[in-house]
Amino acid sequence: MIEKIVNSIKNPKNPAIIILYILTIFVISISYFIMGDSLLVVVESNSSIVNRLLISGYAFFYFTVYSFLFIFVLKTLFFLLKKIKIPFTEKISDFLLISFIPTILILTFIDQQLYTLLGIHINSHLLIQNLSQLQREANIDFNNIFIFIIIFFIFSFVIYFLYRILKKYVNKIPNIIYLLLLIINLLIQIFIILEKSQKLETIWLYMLNKNNYTYLREKIELNYNPTEKITLKNKKNILFIVSESLRYDMLNEDIFPNLMKYTKEKKCIISENHFSSSHSTVGSIFSMLYSLDSYYNPIFEKYFSQNQYKSSYIMDIFKDNGYLSYGGFASDINKFSNDVINNFSYNINFTSKKIYAKNANDYDIHIINWLKKNYNNHNKNIPAIFFMFFVSTHYGYDYPIEFEKFPTTMKTKGRILFNSTLAKKQNKNDLFNRYKNSAYYTDSLIKELFDVFSKEIEKNELIVVFTGDHGEEFWEYGGYGHASISFYNPRIQVPLVICLPKRDSEKIYLSSHIDIFPTIIDYLGGDMEKLSKFITGKSLLKDSGENRYIITSSYGFPVFDKKMVALISTNGKLWLEKISDSIDKINEFLILKKTDINDVKIDEIPINLKNQLDDFKKNGFGRFFKKSK
Ligand SMILES: [Zn+2]
Repeated sequence: MIEKIVNSIKNPKNPAIIILYILTIFVISISYFIMGDSLLVVVESNSSIVNRLLISGYAFFYFTVYSFLFIFVLKTLFFLLKKIKIPFTEKISDFLLISFIPTILILTFIDQQLYTLLGIHINSHLLIQNLSQLQREANIDFNNIFIFIIIFFIFSFVIYFLYRILKKYVNKIPNIIYLLLLIINLLIQIFIILEKSQKLETIWLYMLNKNNYTYLREKIELNYNPTEKITLKNKKNILFIVSESLRYDMLNEDIFPNLMKYTKEKKCIISENHFSSSHSTVGSIFSMLYSLDSYYNPIFEKYFSQNQYKSSYIMDIFKDNGYLSYGGFASDINKFSNDVINNFSYNINFTSKKIYAKNANDYDIHIINWLKKNYNNHNKNIPAIFFMFFVSTHYGYDYPIEFEKFPTTMKTKGRILFNSTLAKKQNKNDLFNRYKNSAYYTDSLIKELFDVFSKEIEKNELIVVFTGDHGEEFWEYGGYGHASISFYNPRIQVPLVICLPKRDSEKIYLSSHIDIFPTIIDYLGGDMEKLSKFITGKSLLKDSGENRYIITSSYGFPVFDKKMVALISTNGKLWLEKISDSIDKINEFLILKKTDINDVKIDEIPINLKNQLDDFKKNGFGRFFKKSK
């Protein structure tokens, strides 16, 4: 039977086969067109047998569709190969036809089981990372596909050789068996299509085919129109400094002598546990400026792309109160996020083409010069926000040689990450010392800023904020960097220093980027009751974080297929994957990992943490989302 199929496929003259191909392509287009948009979705974490069967059946349907598409491409290829007479065409075509399709079938089956059990796909970065023990950060999407291709070929070879060995027996199986399997498959498909209760999300074959895959089937809109004006009773200039990839353990007197001296003198607030809103830059900066959890960022971006720009309520409050704002970004933030940069009265940033052409620290100097010029021209009677984003501490960890306080043999400049000979665990100490040197250099930049603002600092008039956009892992948990989806503390725990003139420090148990501006607005006498209606952050002057939770999310969540968040409180940390893709039916989250706040595994979820998770599901997640009609 299999050989018959193979032969008929390889025979380009068979009209029945050609008709079948045309029909297949028709079915593919129609199925995407109809089901891609109308199949709404509910998959529970505790899927029943029926549910599993449905998913399996649906995957088989896709398997069938893909197989025919695949055969169609192959057939065209063989036809051309025959024309130009390449040797071994027959053998290659046998191999592809006999082994590829069963491979897709087997991998599909494994994937379904994996998805229903764990909620992750066979090409999920989590699975791949755990299996391959990848030790360094890399472009995970590429890696997934690359590793997946390897798995695929290994499977294909095994199946091909099995077929060669069992050829005699395989061909003895009566045709009626194949026919029965085909009919059963077809019946399941029809049943599923009628049932319309499964989501395409469950099938990786579908996902691989989708560019710009939207995780949520529903179209989401923002239920967010802050109009209430808030008056600031006091006005003071704000110097807001962010250092790229700067983790919490860098904030000490060895690495930040100037900053630490300042925080002592001014009795600044230093949070005990400050977490970035995302493990990547864009989401974190968004959260700082909007005081909204970073998972709102993709929706704001979507609005921006449709020419419906939504500015930050926070930044508008300052604007309404007469503030000017200066955004100095030594990075290419505008490439990733337009809504962030547009909030400033004046801004500077660098496109990606330029940024890595030279050393990152050159750009830091550039924005300092830019700030100095603007500060000199600035009318001192107008209050202002000066937001400075330094990148010397980004991968590459650049600094002028005189700042090499911590010895390193690594003299290479530029992006170490993509230099596979350097970004290795064996080089950890050299890399980490480079990182520390770049942080030490950043401290000197802060000193330069303090010099610019010296008069205001002397009069005790300046509000100063210092934080890192997110952290950087140096193999503490097996990985390096910050870009891949992971919520270990080295990647998301960062320093937070807030210096409020004439206000002493107090103990802050837990804070997030979304709390920074609300704290300042509270300090300046803004109405917090009004403000709290349109932010997810809190004033740290009113809430020390002992009894609350914060959320850190992966880039693109929940719009694209990156669907993880971490819920963090003093009771512990939960890594969560959103497995329902409706925003108002159920917010089902699968718990992937449970630890205490210091990443130590726990067996049981404390009752307080459980309650916080329930609150997040019911009231927290997507407070400002609504389903569009
Ligand atoms: Zn960053």
